[in-house]
Amino acid sequence: MPAITTRALIIGSGFSGLGMAIALKKQGVDFLILEKAEEIGGTWRDNTYPGCACDIPSHMYSFSFEPKADWTHMWSFQPEIFDYLKGVADKHDLRRSIRFGAHVERAQWYEDEARWHVFDATGQEYIAQFLVSGAGGLHIPLIPEIPGVDDFGGTAFHSAQWDHSVDIRGKRVAVIGTGASAIQIVPAIIDDVAELQLYQRTPAWVMPRPNNAFPQWMRTVFVTVPGVRALLRAGIYWIHEGVGFAMTRQPRLLKIGELMGKWNINRSIKDPELRRKLTPHYRAGCKRILNSDTYYRAIANPKTTVITERIDRITPGGVLTADGVEHPVDVLVWATGFHVTDSYTYVDITGVGGEDLVDRWNAEGMAAHRGITVAGMPNLFFLLGPNTALGHNSVVFMIESQIRYAAQAIAAVDAAGAAALAPSRRAQDEFNAELQRDLAGTVFSTGGCQSWYMDAHGANRTLWSGMTWQYWLATRTFKPSEYVFTPQPEMARS
Ligand code: NAP
Repeated sequence: MPAITTRALIIGSGFSGLGMAIALKKQGVDFLILEKAEEIGGTWRDNTYPGCACDIPSHMYSFSFEPKADWTHMWSFQPEIFDYLKGVADKHDLRRSIRFGAHVERAQWYEDEARWHVFDATGQEYIAQFLVSGAGGLHIPLIPEIPGVDDFGGTAFHSAQWDHSVDIRGKRVAVIGTGASAIQIVPAIIDDVAELQLYQRTPAWVMPRPNNAFPQWMRTVFVTVPGVRALLRAGIYWIHEGVGFAMTRQPRLLKIGELMGKWNINRSIKDPELRRKLTPHYRAGCKRILNSDTYYRAIANPKTTVITERIDRITPGGVLTADGVEHPVDVLVWATGFHVTDSYTYVDITGVGGEDLVDRWNAEGMAAHRGITVAGMPNLFFLLGPNTALGHNSVVFMIESQIRYAAQAIAAVDAAGAAALAPSRRAQDEFNAELQRDLAGTVFSTGGCQSWYMDAHGANRTLWSGMTWQYWLATRTFKPSEYVFTPQPEMARS
């Protein structure tokens, strides 16, 4: 197989990959998207579980340059978001620049050529000057290492790999986990199942949220009256930034949210013991705040049992808890989240001097300059990389900031007549030292919970430390002084 050569390779075709491709197209940079699956869409292609929806309002959770005025719901469901992304890909004629079924496994920087050599699972080689990872952090399903996981005799699957061939009607279904995915699944399946066992390790703060379809007249207004949709988007943005302010600067303000969360429990759950089980004992926001008007109602349904005993093992017939009770189960749903702080292990990246990025990040924790570029890894860009996920607002806003920054960096390489750039270790370390100082005062650190925001070293390598407009400011203008430029190989030789 001859190697395929292009100027920029983009891994993934979710919001990040598609957005990057559109920016490069505008800039006249040739690119190829490598997509492991047979369709675009990333997380919104993979997650098809019942009830799957976005928990950030759609008018904000969409590209600023591709507004959709006629979203059917404030918080849209997965099929509509997936359709939106397919529409964006088609409008910008991106499919012809996507190689489907290309699961990237390895990328190596060849210093003498100043090029990335990238290999997919079939052994196909790609050569490019620039490499952009649009894989994000929520793409490797996590199934906990509970003894007996492989012994289960019924059907088991992860929330991000929902098996639609399984008929759950009349079945005893166990949902393990009570995070963002589980709280959408539980209300969506409760009417169908015979029995629902919900295994909860830590209760979530769940805020009330009605999500009725927009009435037709309102959709017509968004479509026809200039400025209304943009005004709504701005309103959504600043309300969420208010929550971000509380999370990152004044965590005690989050007590107000806790009152709302408790009210949400009390209005649906009458049993005091169940109320106690569902009430969190950490500051709201320490783990992701969830929203639902239907979750507690589904829990109040007599078909649901909330089980808080630790899971001892999975048996061929069900789930054995630490109190010695074996709960018979037909279908087991792992709503247990993703490998986040080690999500980068999906690809082996080797940079200058043969340094292995996975080894570096395993030892030091993942860190990048402004969450995007990495010292010693020339012309490599991460979208939704280290410390750029959010607990309070739309990650699409972060992605757009990063795309703009990466596009500026590529333009800076060209403008300098250079072959490559990478941040200086000093610039990267200074940026991350300040970031970690800021994170120390946030609810993610002080809120008294254990969350997947923290890595194996106990550091938050996942979330941005402030509000999203601050990230926008931090990435608005690319600063060449923070970078080391590599000259063109032939100039280096002369
Ligand atoms: P998650 O938030 O990480 O939740 C995983 C759940 O599984 C937690 O309740 C966790 O308990 C539990 N768990 C993990 N290991 C366990 C074990 N060994 N035994 C018992 N319980 C265990 O995962 P997720 O719900 O898939 O959500 C992940 C992220 O995806 C979200 O935070 C969000 O960013 C994104 N998401 C977004 C939306 C949306 O609407 N936009 C929807 C779904 C997901 P502990 O809390 O005790 O760890």
